[in-house]
Amino acid sequence: MDFAPYIRDIEDFPKPGVVFKDITPLLKNPFAFQKAGDALLGLTRNMKIDKVVGVDSRGFIFAPMLAEKLGAGFVTVRKSGKLPYKTISESYDLEYGTGTLEMHSDAIEKGEKVLVHDDVLATGGTAEAVCKLVERLGGEVVQCNFLIELTFLKGADKIKNYPKAALLQY
Ligand code: 5GP
Repeated sequence: MDFAPYIRDIEDFPKPGVVFKDITPLLKNPFAFQKAGDALLGLTRNMKIDKVVGVDSRGFIFAPMLAEKLGAGFVTVRKSGKLPYKTISESYDLEYGTGTLEMHSDAIEKGEKVLVHDDVLATGGTAEAVCKLVERLGGEVVQCNFLIELTFLKGADKIKNYPKAALLQY
């Protein structure tokens, strides 16, 4: 299925000069929403996955469903100050600004196979930071998958050491 008709361009959001890919038209359409979930699941066919890591906040839309369907656990990576237990953290550059991402220090066991999911791969700073968090706990990133990859921002270069997949590329 072609998901492109369900992705809306928002110019100058969240700041002038940025064209933001808005995924809410896809989410609100029952058919497209279900098909997108199925297609994301299809990207991991025959892979053994112990944990699915969803990235704050739009990564939380599909990652728990993927975890449930894969028989894996769901782990949240959150922006700083949101997680209640002991955390490890990584700072990263964003398409617009910088930030810090955190993960609970007991979220992943050594040797676990991990799927990282987020809605959009832009410059790759976010996904790279998440992969570092996974590896610091001894996890192995078996795939980073996204609804959308903005190829012109070259995020794939930052995560070139990990298998990557996306439903849509611009
Ligand atoms: P990156 O670190 O790859 O530059 O940015 C990726 C992160 O920023 C993702 O968590 C994603 O949610 C958000 N992001 C950046 N650009 C867009 C966009 O155009 N649309 C959406 N939905 N999210 C974006």
